Amino acid sequence: MSDKDPVFNPKIAPEQLSRADWEALLSPVEYAILRESGTERPGTGRYLHNDQPGAYHCAGCGNKLYGGEHKFHSGCGWPSFFQEAEPGSLKTIVDRSHGMLRTEMRCARCDGHLGHIFPDAPQTPTGKRHCVNGFALVFVPDGAEPLEILRAHRSGD
Ligand SMILES: [Zn+2]
Repeated sequence: MSDKDPVFNPKIAPEQLSRADWEALLSPVEYAILRESGTERPGTGRYLHNDQPGAYHCAGCGNKLYGGEHKFHSGCGWPSFFQEAEPGSLKTIVDRSHGMLRTEMRCARCDGHLGHIFPDAPQTPTGKRHCVNGFALVFVPDGAEPLEILRAHRSGD
């Protein structure tokens, strides 16, 4: 286990990690999404069809991002949530890339790219669709210890 891993070392500030540090911690697809604002192809990400009770944590730093109770089936091809786990879990920035004006969301702790927020979910309590890359997340089932799940995830179990 790397002492530079923000999941297990609360003293390390994620912004101090170099590109090589992140590459060593993350899988290639996680790196492409979280650190290079990539997007998984629709329908291919993990957790799209997961309805187990539990919580979704950042694959970069372990920050809790979403509760399973906030997940809904949008049909868009990416895991969708109508709100974050708690205020401050995320930060949002205006994204003008690809000729569109969108609201990008990032992990508030490690600045990892998660996806975008769209105001097109009138069937939910907030009206919002947090369209999240499944590979940016690690799911922790209710009753499990988050650090154990995250450790197993890092080691590829
Ligand atoms: Zn994070």
